[in-house]
Amino acid sequence: MRLFSDYHLHPQGHRHQPYSQELLQPWADHARRIELRDFALTDHDRYHAGVDFEEIDRLRAANPDLKIRAGIELDNDPVHSAAGREWVEKNWERLDLVLGSVHFLRGDWPFDHAGQEAEFARRDINEIYADYYERIRAMARSGLIDSMAHLDLVKIFGFRPTNDFSDVLDGVLSQIHQANLALELSTAGWRKPVGELYPSDEIIRRAQAKGIPFTTASDAHSHVQQGENFERLAEKMSQMGINEVCVFERHQRRIVAL
Ligand SMILES: [Zn+2]
Ligand SMILES: [Zn+2]
Repeated sequence: MRLFSDYHLHPQGHRHQPYSQELLQPWADHARRIELRDFALTDHDRYHAGVDFEEIDRLRAANPDLKIRAGIELDNDPVHSAAGREWVEKNWERLDLVLGSVHFLRGDWPFDHAGQEAEFARRDINEIYADYYERIRAMARSGLIDSMAHLDLVKIFGFRPTNDFSDVLDGVLSQIHQANLALELSTAGWRKPVGELYPSDEIIRRAQAKGIPFTTASDAHSHVQQGENFERLAEKMSQMGINEVCVFERHQRRIVAL
């Protein structure tokens, strides 16, 4: 089994860099090199001003052998995401997919940034998880997203809740199913301190039971990270009986067998 699609990529990385062929072509080159044939550009919504649909069309024309999807990662940034949501609504027809994610918790805390372990240790871990999943549910309900990114990102530094979150997770997945969203399988977790796929095997099994479809993703912030650990992900997926993924074109979801 070979994975062919990476649906979470950040050409702009961690700063505003307007789209150009110089910025984007290395992603097409790298995709071809590692035999990906379908990928989505999903920069953070706070850098939406750098996204240029004409540059994406130019990239498509120069690389007709690849499916190149226009996307964005919409999060709950207290400063920028109101403008991000507006931008998504305005450009909805030009976008193939919108990823939803939660990067901020109570007190505008950017919990997944490097060095946030101390704050995890200071707060009540069960409250952190409850707060996180409540915000995930709000994102799922937003009506602005097609797929949920790194669903259990809150485990990033390996801090685990002491309460049982089974019912909470079940509620979250029911909400995702109800909103007809896909769920991302992200290898990014393997390069973070937690060293575990996003989401966990337990969440994947529950999602499978509900019939939620999956996308595959690396969350690359540099083109050399694109498709990272995809052999390992393919192995896990076949062990878990996942033999198909979904692709998006103008928000239309299609299931493709692997
Ligand atoms: Zn993210
Ligand atoms: Zn991302």
